[in-house]
Amino acid sequence: MALKLITDAELKDKRVIARFDFNVPLDKNDKSIIADTSRIDLALPTIKHLLEQGVSKLVMMSHLGRPNGKINPDYSLEPVANYLAEKLGEDVILTESAVDNGIKELLTLRETKIILLQNLRYHPEEEANDEDFARELSVYGDLYVNDAFGAAHRKHASVFAINKFFNGQAYAGLLLNKEIQALDKILKTPTKPFVAVVGGAKVSDKIKTIEKLIVSVDHLIIGGAMAYPFLKAKGVAIGNSLCSDEDVKLANSILRADRGNKLVLPIDHMVATEFGGKPSVSDSQKIDDDKMGLDIGPKTIAKYSETLKTAKTVLWNGPMGVFENPDYAKGTMALCEIIAGLEGAFTLVGGGDSVNAVNQSGYSDKFSHVSTGGGASLEYIEKGELPGVRVLKYGV
Ligand code: AMP
Repeated sequence: MALKLITDAELKDKRVIARFDFNVPLDKNDKSIIADTSRIDLALPTIKHLLEQGVSKLVMMSHLGRPNGKINPDYSLEPVANYLAEKLGEDVILTESAVDNGIKELLTLRETKIILLQNLRYHPEEEANDEDFARELSVYGDLYVNDAFGAAHRKHASVFAINKFFNGQAYAGLLLNKEIQALDKILKTPTKPFVAVVGGAKVSDKIKTIEKLIVSVDHLIIGGAMAYPFLKAKGVAIGNSLCSDEDVKLANSILRADRGNKLVLPIDHMVATEFGGKPSVSDSQKIDDDKMGLDIGPKTIAKYSETLKTAKTVLWNGPMGVFENPDYAKGTMALCEIIAGLEGAFTLVGGGDSVNAVNQSGYSDKFSHVSTGGGASLEYIEKGELPGVRVLKYGV
């Protein structure tokens, strides 16, 4: 069943309550500055559509960070409200709390048009998918819109339970739909050769995704700390590189499942004696006992470039090294350039860190799709569905 979109909805003079993913990174030193506004910018087409179609009120809601059910000014949506007001050229009223007593009154005022509810996660009920909390939120709208792809894998009140109160009046926003379409293109009808690149640090988080991908891809490139459990499982020395016994077990099970020899692993590394230490190139796939791998090496970059050369579909999640430190960012930046340069390929990058890297590299507009949801895209690849999307189609 196809998603019902906001473009199918009768919006004129309606009060709309809409869930967005405004979970943006804030500047470490100044929490009033948004470090990367992409998630808000990508939601603007939905917001503008709703306003252009003449909604009477737009009540927006989102979470920011992990305040763990408690009010914490460090996670206030105030910078988001200010940025939205600037982008829309209209007042955006930030409420004190997501279920503030004054909100209903605010909604009766003619001059009030755009409201942003304060961080949903100040309330423990949000993450508990609490039905009463969802009911309180639902009262603010005649219809409900979900454009929060980055939160669509969460069974939370504003994403899941709230649908119960909008029978036939729940719609997907334009960004949510775009994200799902991009992933469907990769999962259902990938043009071959299909190459997936998986990096980052947490094998256990990505194991199910890798198990799924290994069936449909032509090659599965592994980089970052993800590579060491695979190398260790193959009996290659990895020195002091990040690697747990549990991850080696998981890597072993994937190596056994890799009957088509699709896995592509690093053949050299950038190593150092300590985290943050001066890097040097390892001579081989092996890492000396006193060293740790912190990035892929030059021969590996060349090898991955060769593997990607003819790709027509590319899916990338996770950096190739500790790219936050410029000394170990070469592998990740090289991948940005290689994938951005593929002619006629459909290229999708997902996952907070790899998306940050692509944005930093300046190549983001050369990718076919830059996803706003790391966890959500991994779960969609693994399961082919997300709770927040399923509920929009079929109800609670
Ligand atoms: P993930 O959330 O699984 O995508 O992991 C991203 C994190 O992996 C980033 O913070 C990287 O610094 C880290 N990472 C990538 N490669 C390595 C490595 N070789 N050693 C340690 N951490 C790494």
